[in-house]
Amino acid sequence: MTMILTVPQHANCECGACQFEVDAAPAARFICHCTICQAYTGKPFSDVTVLRARSVDVHGAENIAFREYRLPPNISRGLCKRCGKPAIEFGGFGPAKIAFILSSNFNRKDLLPPVEMHMFYHRRQSDAVDALPKYSGYLRSNLAAIKLILGVLQS
Ligand SMILES: [Zn+2]
Ligand SMILES: [Zn+2]
Repeated sequence: MTMILTVPQHANCECGACQFEVDAAPAARFICHCTICQAYTGKPFSDVTVLRARSVDVHGAENIAFREYRLPPNISRGLCKRCGKPAIEFGGFGPAKIAFILSSNFNRKDLLPPVEMHMFYHRRQSDAVDALPKYSGYLRSNLAAIKLILGVLQS
């Protein structure tokens, strides 16, 4: 079934100081249980929507403090300087750049794609009650994420 998604989509951090206009339908969505995501979100896991960075317009970029994580897959995670909550994350994959926005930061969550999988499931704080694929271990989780991201880049 093909879903017709209304664009543009809008997202923002919790306080609204960082705003994002998305001019393409979000391409993928997954849940990450890794400890970095847990620290970044302050929640047991991170439910993120994946987009091509070029389809995201950032307003209030001066309100975002980025922290780089050098380990693969080289994610730069932005927190809002005002509310201290997640704003946007970027990952560099060759010439292509990917953006990750917390699914809960979108105004129209009903227009987001369904969650496709769980990764870093071995770090979970509680079991997920769904039939989605669950990837455990650093390598398996990263391979699953890279495959999903390559799909986004080809879309
Ligand atoms: Zn904020
Ligand atoms: Zn993670």
